[in-house]
Amino acid sequence: MTRASDVIVVGAGLVGAACGREFARRGCNVRILDGEPPGNHTTAAGMGHIVVMDDSDAQMRLTLQGRALLHAFVDSVPPTVAERIEADPTGTLWIAEDDGGYEAARSKQTYYSDFGVASELLDEDAMREAEPCLARGLAGALRVPDDFVIYAPAVVEAMLDDARAHGARVESACVRRIRGRTVELEDGRTLDAAWVIDAAGEAAFDILDAEARAALKHVRLRRRKGQLVITDRYPGFARHQLVELGYLASAHGDDRASVAFNLQPRATGQMLLGSSREFEAADATVDASLLRRMIERATRFVPGIGELAALRAWAGFRVATDDHLPLVGPIDAPHSRGLLLACGHEGLGITTSLSTAKLLVDHVFDCADADFPIDPYLPTRSMHGTG
Ligand SMILES: Cc1cc2nc3c(=O)[nH]c(=O)nc-3n(C[C@H](O)[C@H](O)[C@H](O)COP(=O)(O)OP(=O)(O)OC[C@H]3O[C@@H](n4cnc5c(N)ncnc54)[C@H](O)[C@@H]3O)c2cc1C
Repeated sequence: MTRASDVIVVGAGLVGAACGREFARRGCNVRILDGEPPGNHTTAAGMGHIVVMDDSDAQMRLTLQGRALLHAFVDSVPPTVAERIEADPTGTLWIAEDDGGYEAARSKQTYYSDFGVASELLDEDAMREAEPCLARGLAGALRVPDDFVIYAPAVVEAMLDDARAHGARVESACVRRIRGRTVELEDGRTLDAAWVIDAAGEAAFDILDAEARAALKHVRLRRRKGQLVITDRYPGFARHQLVELGYLASAHGDDRASVAFNLQPRATGQMLLGSSREFEAADATVDASLLRRMIERATRFVPGIGELAALRAWAGFRVATDDHLPLVGPIDAPHSRGLLLACGHEGLGITTSLSTAKLLVDHVFDCADADFPIDPYLPTRSMHGTG
């Protein structure tokens, strides 16, 4: 690698920070650019649930490895940093509303165990013993004990510090255009590198040149708005991240607006309640009627939720592809050699930040012993999703 930088990463959300850190740790000369304070965009709007998901084998592999790498990262930081990251080993309880749901939980367990993921089926009594805030009359739950919770903006900070410790430069710079290995900045400067990683989240396609965009015309990146509300501190109110089993159906449905119950106990004692999914929302204004639907849905699972004092609600945009897998790797355009995408992580970009970075490092260094192939995530794949 002989250019001014080996690697330029555009975007310092968690995905960009993880990529920059990974390449810096491999001895590359890395520059990480962001036009806003790092970690301030979608990464700051999310829930920080580190969760293994079973929508497809490809998603399973990426989330499972992402979870393991984040576990290792959290374990590696000094105690003062760990305190800011607020990692909490909550596990996940996937809650079955009825007998049909319980059967779905059983199938989920079989699938998880095929991938070596620990999980435990709980009947109604065992579920309510584990989580007394849950309503009576629910069928039971699948507990996934190794899922956990983090505060993502603090993880960005910690990853960037580690990247800097390995020689990376983190710079405030707004990118106007990426042309292959060349990055044009709004201030008129031009930078180049052997590899340019586009981790600009929502703006990832907007900053590409015409040739790269033409090569990506088979791919649709859609913004999917999500709302969250956080309560005052109620330590012990819930112990696990609680998610209804129908969550994936809501996550992948194409309804204009849907809600699914998702409650996260924060290390601070606050309860973070999600979540909604909305296509075609123009801006990040909180929609009060959707918020009401979220609270009503939550009351079905946790009757006491309405008694908690809400402090703040906000919304952010997940960036989704039609097949719900991120875009990771090179595109098929002759003048865009050296350009790598790392975007389109929808509702799992916190969980899969480090596994995305590892896919790219394995690709660049041509690792024969990569844990799994990059192919299902390549931007050149054909898209079979429902959109
Ligand atoms: C409501 C909600 C809940 C979620 N919950 C979870 C969850 O529980 N678990 C999970 O794993 N994921 C969750 N997610 C998804 C997760 O937050 C995202 O997938 C992840 O944050 C994406 O990170 P990113 O780095 O790709 O994007 P971003 O955080 O958006 O970072 C992109 C960066 O690029 C920068 N940028 C953009 N344009 C330019 C430019 N021209 N020049 C320079 N810099 C630029 C931006 O300033 C930004 O900092 C949730 C998302 C939402 C909205």
